[in-house]
Amino acid sequence: MISLKKQAMFNKAHCVVFCVVFLCGLATSLAMYLDERSHIGEQQKALGDKFASKLSGVLQQYTSELNSVAALIESNTGDVSPRHFVGFVKSLVSNQDIQFFFAQYVPAKMKSTFESKLRVRLGDTSFSIYPQGDRQEYMPLSLIYPNEIPYGFDILSTQYQDLVSVQQVRNSLMWTASKPLATPFLQNTQNAPANTIILSAPIYLPLESRSNKPTDNIVFYGVVGAYFNIENLLKQVTSSLKENVVFRIADVSADNPIWFADSAKMTLWDKGYDTHYLSLANRKWRVDSRFDSSLWTQVHLFPVLSVLISFFLLACFLTFYTNKLLLRYRSALDAASKYIKVDELTGLLSRYYVQHKLSELLVYCQEENKKLATFVLDLDHFKTINEAFGHELGDKLIVEVSRRLSNVLPKNAVIGYLGGDAFLILIVQDDLKKCESLDCLAQSIIQKISEGYYVEGLTLNIGCSIGGVVYPEFGPDATTLIKYADMALYHAKTSGRSTYRFYDVEMGGRFERNVRIERRLRKALQTTGLELHFQPKVDLISERCVGMEALLRWEDEELGVVSPAEFIPIAEQTGVILPLGDWVFEQAFRHLVEWQEQGITVPPVAINCSAAQLKRADFFPNLLSLLDKYKVDPCLLEIEVTESILIEDAESCAELLRQISRLGVKLAIDDFGTGYSSLSYLKDLPFHYVKIDQVFIRDITEDKKHAALTHAIISLGHNLNLKVIAEGISNVDQLIMLQEFGCDIGQGYLFSKALGASSMGSDPMIVALNEKEGFD
Ligand code: C2E
Ligand code: MG
Ligand code: MG
Repeated sequence: MISLKKQAMFNKAHCVVFCVVFLCGLATSLAMYLDERSHIGEQQKALGDKFASKLSGVLQQYTSELNSVAALIESNTGDVSPRHFVGFVKSLVSNQDIQFFFAQYVPAKMKSTFESKLRVRLGDTSFSIYPQGDRQEYMPLSLIYPNEIPYGFDILSTQYQDLVSVQQVRNSLMWTASKPLATPFLQNTQNAPANTIILSAPIYLPLESRSNKPTDNIVFYGVVGAYFNIENLLKQVTSSLKENVVFRIADVSADNPIWFADSAKMTLWDKGYDTHYLSLANRKWRVDSRFDSSLWTQVHLFPVLSVLISFFLLACFLTFYTNKLLLRYRSALDAASKYIKVDELTGLLSRYYVQHKLSELLVYCQEENKKLATFVLDLDHFKTINEAFGHELGDKLIVEVSRRLSNVLPKNAVIGYLGGDAFLILIVQDDLKKCESLDCLAQSIIQKISEGYYVEGLTLNIGCSIGGVVYPEFGPDATTLIKYADMALYHAKTSGRSTYRFYDVEMGGRFERNVRIERRLRKALQTTGLELHFQPKVDLISERCVGMEALLRWEDEELGVVSPAEFIPIAEQTGVILPLGDWVFEQAFRHLVEWQEQGITVPPVAINCSAAQLKRADFFPNLLSLLDKYKVDPCLLEIEVTESILIEDAESCAELLRQISRLGVKLAIDDFGTGYSSLSYLKDLPFHYVKIDQVFIRDITEDKKHAALTHAIISLGHNLNLKVIAEGISNVDQLIMLQEFGCDIGQGYLFSKALGASSMGSDPMIVALNEKEGFD
């Protein structure tokens, strides 16, 4: 049975399929998206690199242009006219975005000389250094290009925003870049944006030209510089890039960064950027860059979405398909489970399902503390009906029996058909009527089932046997209960059929012993422990030994001595009788040959043969090959068979017995009087002896009926020309009575027990036989 958990899983199989396929699609799309994103991230970084390197390139170009201008001034020892300066710079620079200037150092004493010189050079009579005021030193702009700022602005005046860097330039030999400033050299710049950078370098004149030039005590001659608008600079950089880039730049030379450019909306910076650092003169710039839009908007969503949609469609298709399969599977399962539960022929529960029901009822009875009776019912001699009237009619009879069984059993009884002619019945004891016991129920079932049936115009009679077991006294589980009920059934069958038996501890013990006997017997056949003994048969008139019966003796290491009366029936049930029978024949022949070799004359030896042995197709060929192998005269051999074989398989057995008899082997019917068959075979079959069963002989002197029966059997045997053997004669009274009745031969402890093969030479009966030479 499928567990509820598994069933729930089956019901949701289509949902599971959808989820699995769709999740696969989702995972694939996500992987594609992330791959694309990281690719775009790399592109963004490459763009940032490009931007930073272009920016650095432009700044380097500015520096080198300024270098050239400084070289011009230095090489001309300061004597550069504004025209010369303009001409030089014009030829040097390609764009007008950068402004070059030179501010010459003018000590206070040279101020008027300087001013008058510049007035001449510029042709401007109103020229003067400004802002006005007396200072110790001046550094007015004396060379400018392009001319966007006025000549004469003193960059040492306190109004100049970048005064500090001027002082730095003056005191060092290094290039200096300013922090971002509002437009320099203009006086009203408080509200102007800080969007200009000034690059400055000090000019020191060569030694030889210092004398007539105004320098300070460190031969500082002035500052040459260039300034540029950051926006123009960045425009120049971005215009050379194909991709759109957003950036922000900060001067990070000091502790607090000074942000001076930001081309992006603020929110974008939260979504990631790449950072580069640039060095410009003595300053350090940080440049952040990124694409001008969110990364995900850059991702090519089409392939990502098309994969997702494809998987979604696949998931839908598979879900639909799985659901369809599931529906078919369920309907097939329903049909199969109906087929599995109900037996087609009888309409009762199937063999499988009734056992399942038994397990369920066991759980119920355990929980409710109730008793459960389990019966196995088997029809008696159903095989005969099948053989006589065919299987079709047999099936119809089974259906009728099922119907009758349903009627006779209580409503709540569970009835299952086990196949063949067997049924399993389960009854919770509460379901029985108060007055009814399990024994009554079993009896009434047997009675009802045994009433005649009318099938296809025929009146049929069939009996049944029942084996039962009651839970919780026995059997913890379904398999054990059925096994016990089977054992009880077997006992009912062996007790003569048409009866019932309940399993009990003794039965279980016997069963266990039987299993052990079977196991040990198989082993004994391979090793040792088995022996043949021989019991003499005596002529009741001459009192001479006229034959011997070979009887098996077994002493097992574990079980001790086990009687053949116990192990032969077990061997017959389990099939061990076949190899065991072969062993007996082989052994009997060997002994016969040994005795011959020892010169001991022995009478014919009778071997007991079970039905299963005679049913073997190779029985007769085997017998022939043994006779041939040991070169034994068939007259020295007798075979004893019981009546039962003639009841079970009279026809084929009759032919075999005739063949055996034709060889010269004599035949005896063993245990005569205990079977139930017709006596006709006595006249038709080639028997030589009838052996009256020892149950009759045992009581012959006390029980008149047994005496009468024995007498009748002897007369019957004689009338049919058969010799009669009485077995089990254990006292003289029995012997006298049998002699009076005219019995021919006797066998029993009165004469001798069965003897070992080796004691033949010393046994008085055999010795006497050898002395008189010859026997009948
Ligand atoms: P059976 O063929 O009827 O053998 C006679 C049985 O009666 C033997 O029992 C024998 O020991 C016993 N018996 C003989 N005289 C007396 C007596 O005075 N009083 C009593 N109470 N019993 C006596 P055993 O040897 O126990 O054999 C039992 C049965 O086992 C035999 O009955 C026979 O059916 C079967 N059996 C024995 N050996 C073989 C064998 O080799 N093959 C087959 N198939 N069956 C065998
Ligand atoms: Mg016998
Ligand atoms: Mg017998």
